[in-house]
Order: sequence, then C-alpha cells, then structure tokens
Amino acid sequence: MGESNWPQAEPYRIKVVEPIRRLSRSEREQALDRAGLNPFLLKSDEVFIDLLTDSGTGAMSDNQWAGMMVGDESYAGSRNYYNLEKAVRDIFGYPFFLPTHQGRGAENVLFPLLIEKNKYVPGNMHFDTTKAHIEMAGGRGVNLVRQEAYDLNSEYPFKGDMDIEALVNFIEEKGKEQISFILMTITCNSGGGQPVSLGNMQKVREIANKYALPLFLDAARFSENAYFVKKREQGQAEKSIGEIIREFFCLADGCTISAKKDGLVNIGGLLAFAEGQEELFQQARERLVPLEGFVTYGGLAGRDMEAMARGLYEVQEEAYLAQRVGQVERLGKKLIAAGVPIQKPVGGHAVFVDGKTWLSHIPQEQFPSQALSIELYLESGVRAVEVGTILAGRHPETGENIMPDLDLLRLTVPRRTYTDNHMDFVVEAFRRLDARREKIKGVRFAYEPKILRHFTARFARA
Ligand SMILES: *Cc1c(COP(=O)(O)O)cnc(C)c1O
Repeated sequence: MGESNWPQAEPYRIKVVEPIRRLSRSEREQALDRAGLNPFLLKSDEVFIDLLTDSGTGAMSDNQWAGMMVGDESYAGSRNYYNLEKAVRDIFGYPFFLPTHQGRGAENVLFPLLIEKNKYVPGNMHFDTTKAHIEMAGGRGVNLVRQEAYDLNSEYPFKGDMDIEALVNFIEEKGKEQISFILMTITCNSGGGQPVSLGNMQKVREIANKYALPLFLDAARFSENAYFVKKREQGQAEKSIGEIIREFFCLADGCTISAKKDGLVNIGGLLAFAEGQEELFQQARERLVPLEGFVTYGGLAGRDMEAMARGLYEVQEEAYLAQRVGQVERLGKKLIAAGVPIQKPVGGHAVFVDGKTWLSHIPQEQFPSQALSIELYLESGVRAVEVGTILAGRHPETGENIMPDLDLLRLTVPRRTYTDNHMDFVVEAFRRLDARREKIKGVRFAYEPKILRHFTARFARA
C-alpha cells in the first residue's frame, strides 16, 4: 500500500479536554419544550454534539494559546497588530489591512464606501450578513452562481463558480454604471461550502477589468477553497496551498474575512486591500475608528490579534486541511451509506441533509428540515440547523411564506473540535431516526417573530 491509503488520523494530539454530557431522553424532552421546539433556544449545556455552526467554535492550537500570553494590550501600536499585518502581507500579498471584531465588522466598514443607492452587487452567492450589509448600504445583492449549485445531486466539482455568461448579461443589461462592485465568496457558504475554481476567478477578473469594476473577496474559508482547487482543478496539484491562496488574492482588489472560520480563532475579522487601493484603504481607516475602534486594534484585544496571526499560518498546513475536509466528507459518505440524501459533492465545512426528500411525507408548509432538527436532538442530543423554509422567511409584499426549492438541515463541523467517533455518533442518530422516519410529524409556528424568525421562533407539532 506504500504511503497512500492510510486511514485519516487527526494531525494533532489532545492536550486539554472540555467534558460534554448527554442529557437523558426525558431531560432532552424538557429542554426542548422549554426552548419552544427551537434548537437555537437550547442552552449549549443541553447539547451533546453541537453542529449549529463552524463559526468561532473551533479549537486553537498550543501555539495560538501561547500567543494569547504575549498579548500586548496597548491602545495604540500593539506589537500583535504588527504581527498580524505581517501575516496578511505574507499570506495574501496585501499591503493595507485593518483588524475588525468579526467579518460583518469589515463589511460594515467597507460596503458604504463602494455602494451607491440602488446599485447592484453581483456575486456568486452572498452570505446572509453580507446581503444584509449590502442592503443596509442601499445596494442590491444579486446571486449569479452556476445553475449546478441548485442541483443537490450534481457532482460538479466547483459549484461555487460564478455563472460567467449570466454575469456579463447582467452587467450589459443593467449597464456598468449601475454596478457597485463584484463580490466572490470563497468557499460559497450559502451554497453549501462549495469551492470556486481559480479559472473561474480569473474569468471574473477579466470581466471586472473590462467594465472597470472593483472585485472583492469574501474569503472566510480561503484555505479550504485552496485545498479543493489543489485537489480538483486541472493543473493545480503541484502548487502549494499558499501559492493558490496568493493567486486568488492577487486577482482581487481587496477582501473581507471572518477569521472565525479559517482564521482558526473564536473571534476576529479583517479587511485588507491590494496594491493600488491606498485611497480606499485610507477611507476605510477613517470609518474604522468610530465603528470598530482605533486602527491598530479594530475591536480586538492584542491577544486576539496574535492568535489570529498564528491561525492564518496554521490553516494552510496540508495535513490539517486533509483531515478537516476529509472529516466532513467522511461524515457525508457515511450518511449516504445509511440511506440519507445529502448535497453532493460534500462541501468544506458542513454536510447538508435533504430534509424535504428524506421526510417527503411532511409537506413543505410544515417545515420538514425543522422537524428533522427537533427529532435529531430528541433522539441523540445532536444540534443541527435548518437552512430552508423557516430561514427563507415571508415575502415582503404578499406576506406569504417563501417556499425555497431546497429545504435542508445543515450539520456544520467545527474545526479540530470533534473526533470521527463523534461523527459516527451523528450517523448512528440518523440510522435510528430512519427506523421511525415515516412517523415524524411536521411543525407549525406557535410564535413567529417579524424579522429573522429562525432565531427566536417557537413551534408546536402540526
Ligand atoms: C461568517 C461569514 C461572514 C460573516 O462573518 P462574521 O464573523 O460571522 O461576522 C461573512 N461571509 C461569509 C462567507 C461567512 O461565512
């Protein structure tokens, strides 16, 4: 067998453990009743394995924790700021950078500088807070991802790619003066953590050049994306992860990053700009102070910036990425083997279960994936999150429930936090649910908030 075909073992050993406990079935029932059948409202102590999100939920390394101890908490000019600046320059090749408290902080600083009222921001597929910040700045977000992204069964390797023809048509139809900027999200979070190919990014750059439009990256999962490029894209296998990252960022004018993902930290973000963007950087710098804090801390402690600087280097290690992406893929494959329909191919940070298909006896008006999240918790103590009809909300004009094509349950895997045994436990939960699948009932709202209803809604069984 030689050097290949080894089972995937975690490329780290565990130095600190955080005990977790699974409540008894009757305790879980009580907890869920108190939470109004909404897993979002559970206390984390009531959850055994928490797959709600991969944002800020990962484990830091000993090297990052050591960095926390050398935090320089000076108000201005902290040494950790300069370490982070060096990391940003080394890794992304960007000379101008600002720390922010998380990704949306960077969006809030940048977007009003680029967006004019009612103008468009085309992208592959915008993340929720990103779309919200585009709209708060008066703009209009448009998703132009390839059609394959909407087909759960398509094995297309780069389902995060922009539909180039659709982008050109959109710009031609609206007129380039109606476009504020182009935003590429890597990996495409809302599309299932699906990657963008380097070839696609190059084509988007050509279009941005042709129409003289700024091009930015929303790069929360920049390293997972580079790993997929190395593994899947022709001609990229020999490059290092670092080289692929540099090539992506070279093609953009700047980026916003939520460091709670591939920054491998629990809090933090950044805003950075390429060579030639000094003027925009100066404007962003001025906005940073009232919104996030002084330019050398941007809402973070010195120790947070140090942990981020170290995390940005660690996340590029190929052994880390192979295990990270491999763990998510392994979970997906085991679910498929257990007969559970999921989005294919498996994305970088989560497995998306097709709740609408698996519980096809529940009408979409009764929120099949929400019902599944409730039963999953009751069965096992595992928490996952609906990404479907509840999340889609109501139509702003008609007040009707929006019925998205896809009604999914997201199993999001935190970085370096759970072992494959935990993932096997999750698979076993689905096997047990399968045995009583047809008896699972849908749900209705018992209380429905007007906005962002998924966070605080309460439910009753239909
Ligand atoms: C998480 C995320 C954001 C927002 O970042 P926060 O750190 O949660 O504020 C923006 N874009 C993408 C693609 C994300 O995944």
